[in-house]
Amino acid sequence: MAAREVEDIFADIVERAKALDPVNTRRWFEELRLLHLSGGSLAIGCPDAAMVEFLRDNCKNSFTRAAQQITGHLVTVDFTVDHQAKSLRRWARRVPELKLHPDYTFDNFVVGPSNRLAHASCVAVSQSPGNTYNPLFIYGNSGLGKTHLLQAVCFKAKQEFANAVIQFLSCEDFVNRFIRAIQEGNVAGFQSQFRTVDTLVIDDVQFLREREQSQEEFFHTFNALYNNNKQIILSADSPPGKIPSLEERLISRFNWGLVARIDPPSYETRIAIVQKKAHLRGLSLCDEIAEYIARKVHANIRELEGALTAIYAVATTTGKQITLELSKTALEGQIESAARHISITDIIEVVTNHFDVRLADLQSKRRTQSIAEPRQICMYLARNLTKHSLEEIGGHLGGRDHTTVMHACNKIGEAERSTPKMRALLMELREQITQRI
Ligand code: ADP
Ligand code: MG
Repeated sequence: MAAREVEDIFADIVERAKALDPVNTRRWFEELRLLHLSGGSLAIGCPDAAMVEFLRDNCKNSFTRAAQQITGHLVTVDFTVDHQAKSLRRWARRVPELKLHPDYTFDNFVVGPSNRLAHASCVAVSQSPGNTYNPLFIYGNSGLGKTHLLQAVCFKAKQEFANAVIQFLSCEDFVNRFIRAIQEGNVAGFQSQFRTVDTLVIDDVQFLREREQSQEEFFHTFNALYNNNKQIILSADSPPGKIPSLEERLISRFNWGLVARIDPPSYETRIAIVQKKAHLRGLSLCDEIAEYIARKVHANIRELEGALTAIYAVATTTGKQITLELSKTALEGQIESAARHISITDIIEVVTNHFDVRLADLQSKRRTQSIAEPRQICMYLARNLTKHSLEEIGGHLGGRDHTTVMHACNKIGEAERSTPKMRALLMELREQITQRI
């Protein structure tokens, strides 16, 4: 294949992966590069390790399916840090040792009255670590943006101070590593790892409760860093004094700097967050729907995001436009749970009824248009609405092999994109299928 051709195929694969899983689509997918595609393997290069991690955790399936659909072959997909693309992002070079979520930046954080102080103090600390608020302690209920803010500080500090050593980890991770160091007889190694950093960020320190030995270790780490003007940033679900059985000397140290609370977001902030999350996925959402979601979910931003995800999931599985109506149904969980349980038999029954043909016809070798089209539509819908493989779908329809199913899916998919008649027909069929559940 010519290089140009391979590049085109890669572009198609990325587009298809986005269509298969819009919820996990990010605008930075445009920065992905084809490293190699041959011998049944596809290597995709990303500018930094955080993106690799995000793709491996969330997008492996959609990229694998997309690659198989576009190339017609079984393809294994892997993501790696791409050294050429790395130079595009100044901070990317130094981030690999840090496990950060690429979405959690200041740019992607919506500021409102509920989090203004926490946000401002995080920005200040990221610009001048060790010199403003030390330690910085952020607290609030779950799902209000503590981890997001802490990671944003890390991103920003990396950007500003290229050579700074920054450690971000959950308190659970800190405790587990400490326990392992004891077991392996390497406490000195553990101590030097944490006491020599420029910025130490520990998420969810309420995890220290009732862990006496870890509290002791944490206390010494804290002192070592603090005495050297190194920045310490902590988060928890309650203020220092309210963390059960936390040693008094730790409580007092946690209060030495700035303690900032995050409250549940106001209605206006919730709307802005929903819009931001949609934008991040390269999607636009009309105000009416953003307002609806913001009214429906109050206390927790993670749930706000979950609501958006549910709506997109329903829209993709049913092939419908996102409307207020659809959003309402999705949030009531009706279509969503239905979409999960559609069987190939449901699809065949709806399609055979609609076209007035028999299952035996679909399974036969006949290729007349009146039989071939319903058969191909069954394959296409089964591919989109169930988790069956191409082989399994072929098996239900007269033992056809996977290339036949793939051909059918491509053909009907193309017709759906290009002809309003096919679009209307498929919408009608999907409706009938979901109503059966
Ligand atoms: P916590 O650590 O407090 O439990 P997270 O930081 O994990 O909460 O936030 C949960 C989700 O909500 C994340 O996806 C995060 O990006 C999002 N989020 C929270 N606050 C905001 C905000 N102000 N703007 C944009 N997204 C936010
Ligand atoms: Mg968190």
